[in-house]
Amino acid sequence: MKLAIDANRLLSEIEALAAISEADPPAVTRILFTATDLKARAWLRQLCEAAGLAVRQDAVGNIFARWSGSDPAAPAVGTGSHIDAIPNAGKYDGVVGVLGGLEAIRALQRSGFRPKNSIELVMFTSEEPTRFGIGCLGSRLLSGSLSADAARKLTDSDGESLDDVRRKAGMRGELEDVKLPPGYYKAFAELHIEQGPLLERERIPLGIVTKIAAPASGRISLEGAGGHAGAVLMPDRRDALCAASELILAIEKAARASGSTDTVATVGMCDVFPGAINSIPSRVRLSVDIRDTDLARRDSVMQTVEAAAQKIAAHRQVVIQISITNADAPADCDPAVIEALSKSCEEHGLKFLPMISRAYHDSLFMSRIAPTAMLFIPCEKGYSHRPDEYSSIEDIARGTTVLAETLARLSA
Ligand SMILES: [Zn+2]
Repeated sequence: MKLAIDANRLLSEIEALAAISEADPPAVTRILFTATDLKARAWLRQLCEAAGLAVRQDAVGNIFARWSGSDPAAPAVGTGSHIDAIPNAGKYDGVVGVLGGLEAIRALQRSGFRPKNSIELVMFTSEEPTRFGIGCLGSRLLSGSLSADAARKLTDSDGESLDDVRRKAGMRGELEDVKLPPGYYKAFAELHIEQGPLLERERIPLGIVTKIAAPASGRISLEGAGGHAGAVLMPDRRDALCAASELILAIEKAARASGSTDTVATVGMCDVFPGAINSIPSRVRLSVDIRDTDLARRDSVMQTVEAAAQKIAAHRQVVIQISITNADAPADCDPAVIEALSKSCEEHGLKFLPMISRAYHDSLFMSRIAPTAMLFIPCEKGYSHRPDEYSSIEDIARGTTVLAETLARLSA
């Protein structure tokens, strides 16, 4: 298919959206349902309407912009991403998938293509966890991965509930109605910057994501016995920090021994009580984050960690409690969508790298309700979530071309 991406227009739209920000340029900050976020949303809706798309918004603020196909009752082909940005972030994370998705639709319109299945652009609410502490809020609700009841219990750091905040922001309807009916999408493809260095390093312009990794994360508390650092002799100690140290190394060992480099485990937080030079640590709190592309393998690493914790607790006479706060399952991307993306790359003579998404994306949740895959473009040095995040317009335009071709293949 002959597809002409209007790269200049796309670039100027990316710049225009970056200017709707709470941070000084080049940094971008757009937090859910702030005045800035609402302004960006209104701006995007107006662009979609100008492209002739039918725009609707659900109760949590997910925006859908639909190009009606010749069989409007058939399941739609979806694309999209997010436009919220963590404090002091860059211009491209999420934005490339939303504005690139819109330009892909416009390029298809200009080419004379007419889809059989409707093509729908989605802007997901709050992919970033900044305001309510949970990432992918919109896609979790859409896919039924988060219940309306659980969503209503979410509060921000000011104690305001999601329900109050969204209503004040003008979102109407009930959270129950956000969940999409079964079979709503025939397929879903998300364009995104890689947020890692592999494509740039390999000098390959595109990545096709075959698996999306997901974390199990939680807190570990260890209770031992405190005491004077001089007076309590070594045989009598129940030092919580020594136990924690053994456990941290056991977590590292379990991840290394999983049999796959896709398994990663991190203890990123360690609070020691009372935290004095001459006092034996009586209590330690750790965080743990274990990620994998394979749920069974991740679960087996968790079991290894739990068994190690029991052993350490017994021989050090401390109490160890592990509470997992979040354990989303990883996802396999769909073979048919992967094939549509691969064929589209080949059609345009573009090399691609099959790869794994190690970060979270809305596609993780879309994969629960629709055949889903992702397309990555390079970003300089792999930098993301920082003001110097950068993807060239050439790379963005290439990704947009392949996305447009893919949407055409899936909707023909
Ligand atoms: Zn993102």
